[in-house]
Amino acid sequence: MRRPLIAGNWKMNMTPDEAKVFIEDFKKQELDSTVEVAVIPPFVDLGIVSREISDTEIKLGAQNMCWEDNGAYTGEISPLMLKEIGVEYVIIGHSERRGYFKEDDGMLNLKMKACERHGLKPILCVGETLEEREMGLTLEKIGRELDEDLKDLSLKELVIAYEPIWAIGTGKNASPDDALYVIEFIRKKVDELLKIGEMVRILYGGSVKADNIKGFMDREGIDGALVGGASLKVNEFTRIVNFKE
Ligand code: 13P
Repeated sequence: MRRPLIAGNWKMNMTPDEAKVFIEDFKKQELDSTVEVAVIPPFVDLGIVSREISDTEIKLGAQNMCWEDNGAYTGEISPLMLKEIGVEYVIIGHSERRGYFKEDDGMLNLKMKACERHGLKPILCVGETLEEREMGLTLEKIGRELDEDLKDLSLKELVIAYEPIWAIGTGKNASPDDALYVIEFIRKKVDELLKIGEMVRILYGGSVKADNIKGFMDREGIDGALVGGASLKVNEFTRIVNFKE
């Protein structure tokens, strides 16, 4: 059985002071213990959030990471730094990193290898643009991303987030059936590449809210959600985590 994972990607939101206020409130909420919960704040918030959640079951993630352990890489953060601060998950290849910051699949493959080397759990993001979807290229695009990003790896623990780019921050979510169709393709592909199709958790991401989470989680095969905007409000994020209620 794959344990559901609800992860909140804060993106570039919340200063350390705001993060402290958020997490102090969030950790007081009653959260469904059958669901794994992760918060993924900006780098500068990781220290304070890590301290605040140390006495809880909430997991910590980072939004990005360098593939090198140390050295002359101005502006980058190494896997060793993340590990020391208590980070367990790292988002790799979010479409905003691929798009705005020109991260290509070669780089992402190096980042995946760095996760493997250091025992960090990657949340690898894949997904198609609206144009690719309309041209019927969704599976081809995602298949290519998986081939390149997962090349020469033997990871045993991996999370994939299927995030259709047209659904991110737009209020337009994929339908649960459409999401499941792509997720089933991803599971088969990961099984071909890494032989962990049954174990890999595959999340949906893109305009997930308290009001639509249940539709996704009711589909066997969708193992959780990577939540952006709706993870920034304690109430809303708590309702998403407690989707079974
Ligand atoms: P939204 O939930 O704001 O659409 O963002 C999704 C996302 O990109 C999570 O990584």
